[in-house]
Amino acid sequence: MSAGPVDSDSGLQAPAARASADRRIVDPTTAPAAVGRTGPAPPLLEVDRLRTYFPVRGGVFLTAKAICKAVDDVSLNIAPGETLGLVGESGCGKSTLAKTVVRLLKPAGGSVRFEGTDLAPLSRRELKPFRREIQMIFQDPADSLNSRQSVGKILEEPFVVHRLGSAEERRLWVARLLDTVGLPARAADRFPFEFSGGQRQRIGIARAIALRPKLVLCDEPVSALDVSIQSQILNLLLDLQRDLRLSYLFISHDLAVVKHVSDRIAIMYLGRIVEIGEADEIYARPLHPYTRILLAAVPDPDPRKRRRLEVVEGDVPTPINPPSGCHLHPRCPYAEDRCRVEAPVLRDVSPSGAPPHRVACHFDL
Ligand code: SF4
Repeated sequence: MSAGPVDSDSGLQAPAARASADRRIVDPTTAPAAVGRTGPAPPLLEVDRLRTYFPVRGGVFLTAKAICKAVDDVSLNIAPGETLGLVGESGCGKSTLAKTVVRLLKPAGGSVRFEGTDLAPLSRRELKPFRREIQMIFQDPADSLNSRQSVGKILEEPFVVHRLGSAEERRLWVARLLDTVGLPARAADRFPFEFSGGQRQRIGIARAIALRPKLVLCDEPVSALDVSIQSQILNLLLDLQRDLRLSYLFISHDLAVVKHVSDRIAIMYLGRIVEIGEADEIYARPLHPYTRILLAAVPDPDPRKRRRLEVVEGDVPTPINPPSGCHLHPRCPYAEDRCRVEAPVLRDVSPSGAPPHRVACHFDL
């Protein structure tokens, strides 16, 4: 199918370019896996040893009593056009990582390089051009959209902030944005509360792609939606990725959803990446016990394909005072004395010539 015309100013493609159904999902739990990358490319985003710490205050004078290590020494990268899925239980630091990448939070250490520029030390003014390139989609669009503004105003705002176009041009771009995400032009005159949850997420997506970013951080973008609506939003994100050459960091606690949109998957536990590799490889050969916990929790209608839950139950510890050594050791059936005192580092366990598959465990399980 040929690509549709591209608006020279906003860069948005006409609807004809969005009709291909090669990666569309009917049901997120049964659809085929996402198309992989076309080849090696220099990273768009390079996160190196990133740390985000929060002081935990208490007492009459609210003095710092402890440090919460929400993101602790995380390294990862994302190539142009690639989707990296980031999975872990609630409170493991996924959203904090995303907010640190877009500098909604200031890192305590490490670097975030976007096309080679380290964003971590930049001032607000120096960051402004990069805010066009990196956008975020939030879990609950009801919270992230200003309920007092019309949809038209919400979508026009990025162009106003960056002083782009005349009022007439911005109206045209807003109409095209709405069309791109499957909403009628008349939606511009209505307010967010007049729309369903799925429609509000479409508005949130339209706002995120308004400035033609290269990287979109999707923070649980379908978790608050019904399953049938989840499929529509995932299809929309996949279509937009193809048409606009977007890269995604796709955050979710649901491995079933992540698998179908991701080229690679990173597993996060208590602020650290414990396993990272190609999506198919992680599913076929999960090596870290925590990855196996998550996979065993994914329901499969075929009892023969259900995975054995091999790790004992237990609550996720708090990142304010995490277990020593390997954070998983209180829940891990393979834990030995070494695990209680020594934190494992990520090491590549892939066969020679195969794409990297890194796991943070002292042992070959
Ligand atoms: Fe389990 Fe030890 Fe490996 Fe951690 S390092 S996952 S506690 S075996």
